[in-house]
Order: sequence, then structure tokens, then C-alpha cells
Amino acid sequence: MSRREGILAEMGLAPIWRLRTRLEVPASDSPAVSGTDSSFEWTALKQAVPACTACGLHKSRTQTVFGVGDEQADWMLIGEAPGAEEDRLGEPFVGQAGRLLDNMLAAIDLKRGEKVYIANVLKCRPPGNRNPQPEEVAKCAPHLLKQIELVRPKLIVAMGRFAAQTLLGTDASIASLRGRLHRYAGVPLVVTYHPAYLLRNLPDKAKAWADLVFARKTMTGF
Ligand code: SF4
Repeated sequence: MSRREGILAEMGLAPIWRLRTRLEVPASDSPAVSGTDSSFEWTALKQAVPACTACGLHKSRTQTVFGVGDEQADWMLIGEAPGAEEDRLGEPFVGQAGRLLDNMLAAIDLKRGEKVYIANVLKCRPPGNRNPQPEEVAKCAPHLLKQIELVRPKLIVAMGRFAAQTLLGTDASIASLRGRLHRYAGVPLVVTYHPAYLLRNLPDKAKAWADLVFARKTMTGF
């Protein structure tokens, strides 16, 4: 049993590749991927996502926004969908919200690209930054699930109402989901606000800070 499997077993959780998500994505029966297999699967996924036409968002995208960071990260941060800047640059969480995220990470001694992997639920920008539609989420979910399976994070941080509600299969508010440990596909998950929301609601920055402290404390306990 690997160290990660041991951690999940101690927590009474099955490894991700043995689980089905709330998004009803078929689980892979494959065992833990070795370094070589993982590299092969990352390459295949990075080719599959830019070529994806599974939902209508492919028609309006400039490019897909795959994800970025340490592909063996302990932390995985998941947001909603690319915005205009992300669509233009092909990287998640850029611009003002991205800078705030970097500052939030620095506050808990983390840095983009080091032990952190960042991705969105959707890989293509919804026109006009509208909310993702359920069918788009359903079509795109396998990409995210595969990323989680390959990264094998110790902890997921769901940023924003949409990511939290989508990953947890609930319509509960952020306020009611914060401060508790959840799970997505067997991986412990903490909910916090999206950096773009925090830019518009500065008083909630203190709550986001509390969420990150909670996440850091949770991670330290592993
Ligand atoms: Fe494919 Fe996801 Fe883009 Fe839809 S949003 S076209 S499912 S990559």
C-alpha cells in the first residue's frame, strides 16, 4: 500500500480511482499510476483537452485553460471556469484575482507551482462569463477528475460557490459549507471564497484567511 493509500485508508476513504464522483463520472479501475504511466497519461490528457469539442463552449473559446502547477502537488485549488484573461492567456487565475490568490497562497507559505496545482471545473470560457451550465459541467468533469487522479492531492480547496456546489453536489451556500472538511472523490476538500468575489467583497477576506488557516491546519494533521 502506498503512503497516499495508507492516509486514505486511515481516514476510512477509498482511493480516488475506486470511486465515482457526484458528477457521475465513471471511475477508472486502474491502479495507482507509476511515474512513467503518469507521464504518459498527463501527455494524453494535455492533448485531449485542447481538442475537446464535447460541449458547445469549444465554439467560442480562444483556447482551453488546462491547469497549471506542480503535477505531484499536495494542494489542489479548483475554481469555476476561465474568464476573459484566462481565455486569452491559457492559464487559470491570472490578472487581479490571480494576484490575490498568489498573496493568499503566500500567507500560508505556499507558492503557485510549488506543491500547488490550480485548475477550473470548466476548461473553456463561458461567453460573457455566465455561469456554467449543468450539461457543460457534466461533459467537462472527466477532464478534472483525471487531473485529480493524476495529481493525487492530499487536499482540495474549492474556491467559490460554483466550484464548491459542483464538486459537492449541493446547492448549499458557501457560508454553510465553510469551516468543515468535505470530500470529493475520496479526497478531503475545504471550501472558501473565489478570489474574484473577494475583490468585490473585501470584508470577506478575513473569512477566506480563516478558511486557509483551517486548510493549512488540516494538511498539517495528515
Ligand atoms: Fe470540452 Fe470542457 Fe471545453 Fe466543453 S468546456 S469543450 S467539455 S474542454
